[in-house]
Amino acid sequence: MKTARFSNLTTALIILSVVLFVVGMWFFIRQSLSKEKSPNVVLIVIDTCRADRLSCYGYSKKTTPNIDALAREGILYERAYATDFWTLPSHASLFTGLYPTQAGATSETNHLPPSNTTLAEILKKAGYDTAAFVCNAWISMERGFDQGFDEYLEMWRSVNKAQVPRRHGWAEWATIQKTTEWLDRRKKGQKPFFMFINLNCVHMPYRPPEPHLSRFVKPESGYSNDEVSRMANIAGMWQYLAGELKLSKRDLRILGELYDGEVEFADYCIGEITQRLEKLGIIDNTVLIVTSDHGENLGEHGLIDHLLSMHETTLRIPLVIRYPKRFKAGVRNTDLVSLIDIAPTILDVCNIKENIPTIRPSETSLALNVKLFL
Ligand SMILES: [Zn+2]
Repeated sequence: MKTARFSNLTTALIILSVVLFVVGMWFFIRQSLSKEKSPNVVLIVIDTCRADRLSCYGYSKKTTPNIDALAREGILYERAYATDFWTLPSHASLFTGLYPTQAGATSETNHLPPSNTTLAEILKKAGYDTAAFVCNAWISMERGFDQGFDEYLEMWRSVNKAQVPRRHGWAEWATIQKTTEWLDRRKKGQKPFFMFINLNCVHMPYRPPEPHLSRFVKPESGYSNDEVSRMANIAGMWQYLAGELKLSKRDLRILGELYDGEVEFADYCIGEITQRLEKLGIIDNTVLIVTSDHGENLGEHGLIDHLLSMHETTLRIPLVIRYPKRFKAGVRNTDLVSLIDIAPTILDVCNIKENIPTIRPSETSLALNVKLFL
């Protein structure tokens, strides 16, 4: 009798062990799959960058080798458009998936109202660490753009703390330093993260640091220092519009070359960040997006700068997404897309199922229109 009872107990223990093992494995696999479904997100805005000055968009000069590489490894949208011609409303669309008037972020409010549900707020609620590194003061904390971010670094303020020498592009140099340090500090197994970066070097005045200056404003062009310096000191459009600032064809050529130098410098910054993601072994589990908030006039339509203009030059922006798990490499998409499509796309590929009526990831994600190939 004792032997039979012992045998029954042993059988029960074996069954219990098997059940516990199976349940444990199920939880382990489920957790692994759910980790797999939570990629990091790095969203980079090159402020004021028009699409046609990037080499991957067909520009004759090699301005963007790093973004070109991302485009080869991901998807490039040929017809991506900003929702406005200036920083604040366009970033509001990027962060909310809404048009600027719907989000209440216009030149009348000069603010992103807290009533909006932002991308960062949703990601934070879904368990993401959220950090922003911002070079343009139009999207400051004071103007409401820090909603949902654990850390919001206004690079024009933190430059001294970053101990970066004050030279051309100093806020962007500080951004490279701060973003790469932030990535290095992260430990394996930490929560997924959302990193937002705004680079403002392509914005007027155009003063690219070396070697980017000499690569585009070539010494052999024969420009005098005064000519180049005069173009590098133009900070806006008003004098030009009022007829107080006269610009010859030669002046506008120099202005465009300075702009190209800044585009290449922004591309260099992006290269530093993506190389760090690669070095840390996390790039393939990161949704990497490069875009802009609006373009720029460089003499077209009788305009410089980007205000008061709803032309192709100011509204057509780059949009490149690299995330091998959802976007096939080397695709050039010709759908008409806009800044309002980016938030739903991020939520969709991050598998965030929460019903957010203003963003609608299940209906408007760009990833819905591409075929999975894995
Ligand atoms: Zn801007």
